[in-house]
Amino acid sequence: MKKIALHWQILIGILGGILVGLLCIQFAGGKEFVIDWVKPFGTIFINLLKLIAIPLIIVSLIKGVSDLKDVTQLSSLGIRTLGFYIATTIIAVTLGLGLVNLIKPGGFISEETRQEMLVSFAGEVQEKVDEVTAIEETRGPLQPLVDIVPENIFESASANSNMLQIIFFSIIFGVAMIMLPFNQVEAFKKVLDAGNAIVLKIVDLIMLAAPYGVFALMVALIAEAPSFDVFKALGAYSLTVVFGLLIIVYGVYSMFVYFFGKMKPQEFFKAIFPAQLLGFSTSSSAATLPVTMDCVENRLHVRKDVVSFVIPIGATVNMDGTCLYQAVAAVFIAQVMGYDLTTSQQLSVILTATLASIGAAAVPGAGLLMLVIVLESIGVSPAGIALIFAVDRPLDMLRTSVNITGDAVVAVIMERYSKSEEAV
Ligand code: ASP
Repeated sequence: MKKIALHWQILIGILGGILVGLLCIQFAGGKEFVIDWVKPFGTIFINLLKLIAIPLIIVSLIKGVSDLKDVTQLSSLGIRTLGFYIATTIIAVTLGLGLVNLIKPGGFISEETRQEMLVSFAGEVQEKVDEVTAIEETRGPLQPLVDIVPENIFESASANSNMLQIIFFSIIFGVAMIMLPFNQVEAFKKVLDAGNAIVLKIVDLIMLAAPYGVFALMVALIAEAPSFDVFKALGAYSLTVVFGLLIIVYGVYSMFVYFFGKMKPQEFFKAIFPAQLLGFSTSSSAATLPVTMDCVENRLHVRKDVVSFVIPIGATVNMDGTCLYQAVAAVFIAQVMGYDLTTSQQLSVILTATLASIGAAAVPGAGLLMLVIVLESIGVSPAGIALIFAVDRPLDMLRTSVNITGDAVVAVIMERYSKSEEAV
């Protein structure tokens, strides 16, 4: 296994998993067998990746920040990174909105499909709506800002694994280290270096399990997948999302990489491929984080301090695929439910989908959950989410790949800026 490149290993896992999954569902009891005996290995693999993601963020971000020359360098990196994140997110959501208004996938849904979807998934969707509403009711407008600042860092890392809070703490820690005289922090820097090496070794060990973990995830996905008829019925909607995601990746990102990052897009895509595949198979930007960081540092040759700052923040707040999907899904649901959206409602989709994608956790299905907020902002009943529920998982896999690709794009651009600054 050792000599086969990681992306081949993952690809073999994906294809093998799809084949075996298709085989299993041919037999009576096949689905139950997969759920009991195969799926847990996929879950173990995702847990391992998530387990190492938090130590990885803490060690590499503190190390990355403390290795910077001064705080000014950090703030210019921070402002530029966030600027690019916001710009790509707004492009993505606007593109999604344009496409869904142009293609009008809502017009392709038969009354029968509409009724069937609304009834079949009503219960599951209601649970999600209740969950979001309960949280939203207690929140003021500045709550997202308050949420970034933890009162207890151990709680952030354990009970709710809140990545933004961990990032916030690590940055402050790193900044304090820059501000102190070198001799006071020298010993701790050595500990950090060792910690970093250990965490990276653990990532290597976990990746030995990648083909098997991905295989198990895929077998389970196929065994639990809805029937093909559902995909046919929701084809126009799914294709609109997929079409938009393709334009972002091969149109928008290619241009950003070429013009701002001064890199050939083919080179970029080749280097980031393993992370895209893992994002696709896990549906989680957080679980993919160790591999995204590895690809950006070792295959795209972005400096470590840039990688450790740009990528963890991106995995948490920059979700271009998710916000494109949210715009398409919200307007699609409105179309099917017979709402005629005004211009101000469409603008509200841009705003809320942007915020919802920033706020969405980097885990499977988070985008769907946040869709509740987007729909509520335009006065469409969130119960309409039942319409798209059945095809959400495959679209989640695709948008997660796009989300992590967007983070890598910005890392490449930041590398180029930091180089040109050094040359001055
Ligand atoms: N699964 C996505 C991610 O982790 C979030 C989403 O559901 O859109 O990036």
